[in-house]
Amino acid sequence: MEDVIVLNIKFKFGDTEDVIHPVILRDDSEMILVDCGYTGFMPVIEEAIKKEGMDYRKLTKILITHHDHDHMGSLADFKQKYPNIKIVASEIEAPYIEGSKKSLRLEQAEALQETLDEDKKAFGKAFCDILKSVKPVKVDIKVNDGDVMDWCGGCEIVGTPGHTPGHISLFIRNKKIIITGDAAVLENNLLVIANPQFTLDLDNAEKSISKIKGYDADTYICYHGGVYKR
Ligand SMILES: [Zn+2]
Repeated sequence: MEDVIVLNIKFKFGDTEDVIHPVILRDDSEMILVDCGYTGFMPVIEEAIKKEGMDYRKLTKILITHHDHDHMGSLADFKQKYPNIKIVASEIEAPYIEGSKKSLRLEQAEALQETLDEDKKAFGKAFCDILKSVKPVKVDIKVNDGDVMDWCGGCEIVGTPGHTPGHISLFIRNKKIIITGDAAVLENNLLVIANPQFTLDLDNAEKSISKIKGYDADTYICYHGGVYKR
């Protein structure tokens, strides 16, 4: 059995409705969650997994594509409730997830804060506070670009720096599926760079999106935007 299941996590921030798409990779020995939502999202993710007919208590690993709060916000909660779950991330991204290096997104937000007009400062500060509230978690398994894990019959770690320096995407070979993380988002049925204005290294982000488009894949699962078929 090899399965790739896309979750639809719908939520509201104020009046804005939004949806994110964590993914479950499942085979005979693994049940891996790829990215785990904002802080406080564990219960809704558990519920979404259950709705798909799976038992979330059987999760073996959580892979984090990068250290942004919408991808790792609930990681500490999962690790605390299910200590046997192994946390997987790239070697470059691990220090930011573990908190031994300061979140680059927080550094960026704090630098931006200096430049904001007075009326936007409260919003900027609230965003910084959200980023500061993300709890660090130790990474158990560090991976690198080109590593091939035995998950689902062969899952390649694709280094896709740009959005953050250690960002990774996944290529599930047997199924020709790429899980993009934020290396690409789906907008108007096009794969595009996520929030270019907040991308830490736009040159690398452009190289990374070209890299994943160059794979022999027919399905791209975007955390923001959902499933793209070509
Ligand atoms: Zn994101």
